Amino acid sequence: MTPQTDPQAGAAVKAADRAHVFHSWSAQELIDPLAVAGAQGSYFWDYDGKRYLDLTSGLVYANIGYQHPKVVAAIQEQAAHLTTFAPAFAVEARSEAARLIAERTPGDLDKIFFTNGGADAVEHAVRMARLHTGRAKVLSAYRSYHGGTQQAVNLTGDPRRWASDTATAGVVHFWAPYLYRSRFYAETEEQETARALEHLETTIAFEGPGTIAAIILETVPGTAGIMVPPPGYLAGVRELCDTHGIVFVLDEVMAGFGRTGEWFAADLFDVKPDLMTFAKGVNSGYVPLGGVAISGAIAETFARRPYPGGLTYSGHPLACAAAVATIGVMAQEGIVENARDLGASVVGPGLRELAERHVSVGEVRGVGMFWALELVKNRETREPLVPYNAAGEANAAMAAFGAAAKKAGAWPFVNMNRTHFVPPLNVSESEVKEGLAALDAALTVADEYT
Ligand code: PMP
Repeated sequence: MTPQTDPQAGAAVKAADRAHVFHSWSAQELIDPLAVAGAQGSYFWDYDGKRYLDLTSGLVYANIGYQHPKVVAAIQEQAAHLTTFAPAFAVEARSEAARLIAERTPGDLDKIFFTNGGADAVEHAVRMARLHTGRAKVLSAYRSYHGGTQQAVNLTGDPRRWASDTATAGVVHFWAPYLYRSRFYAETEEQETARALEHLETTIAFEGPGTIAAIILETVPGTAGIMVPPPGYLAGVRELCDTHGIVFVLDEVMAGFGRTGEWFAADLFDVKPDLMTFAKGVNSGYVPLGGVAISGAIAETFARRPYPGGLTYSGHPLACAAAVATIGVMAQEGIVENARDLGASVVGPGLRELAERHVSVGEVRGVGMFWALELVKNRETREPLVPYNAAGEANAAMAAFGAAAKKAGAWPFVNMNRTHFVPPLNVSESEVKEGLAALDAALTVADEYT
């Protein structure tokens, strides 16, 4: 598809947006959203015809890129056949999507509760855990993101929760592994694992094991910085949950559906949760869809007792048809393997090579097509390039980094002092190299702030 170039049309779209659209996480008068004219594969473009390589996959959801013809056709076919039907009925697209997901999820997560996205999947996972155990508290990590609805944002560890913490109920946060900025003074992965587990065990003991319904963790924390957990950590959490009758919830909203080079990140660590949330990549975000995959034991709790919760659009046929087609495309086109192989052979080495040449890069970490660069003022002290939660002037360095990447033709993910390299999973080797070249130019600008 050739980029449309009509600056006047773009100006009209932008004017209507500024007049009437209320944007997420934003001070409404301080933002300047780009008017997007179209997208295809790993690229999108504005109304001036300027094209960007999308290093963000949208909000890390367009895992098969934009406008995949097979998924677009499946949505069109479903719309022509049965656009919508209420959740209490058995509908082909819904049951087929549930089957394909259940077949791929780890362990005995064989029942699927569909939601509209990730936050409501987290809400329902936590509700299921509370009803299953008859306990109230939920433990989650400080460096985490679980969604923007009330319970999900309270579970979120990231400072974005502060503004809505007035309604916190039953949430306790703990520190999960993050060797680069270890809370446990650890110098090795083994130490980090052992000490993080000891900290969690102590937290459980002091909170009272019999009061804790669930521990929820992102298998690989995404928005908070792509901290791949060190060996043994998740297995250790699984053991603590088993010892104390606590439900183990893995949030795979971002890490699931191929992002880490496995169908689910849990497969990387051979860990089997009791509940697993998903969204985003399940249908590449073409139609809103999320869900909870449920173990046999928890499903049994609601076998003869109603589950008290539901959503009008649960398992919406259009969204489920998109999921069936997306999972098919991922399997047929080897997209999970592409994420794993290209991530290991080109992305990781490419980012490490950039780190050698740019003093602003403090650490490179990641797996599959899920990578973070942490930018620092000083490599020795590891002082972040911008303070946490920086706003305005303080954020000039990351703003300059972002502007330079865009000028070089790539749209970067920027959060606090980090940039994440998270393009669609079916990105090509030459597109990866193009992205690395844009980052090279942007890091040259970031280096000036060290
Ligand atoms: N959990 C995780 C791990 C996420 O990354 C996100 C979204 N970034 C959510 C939950 C919330 O998903 P949604 O925005 O679809 O509600």
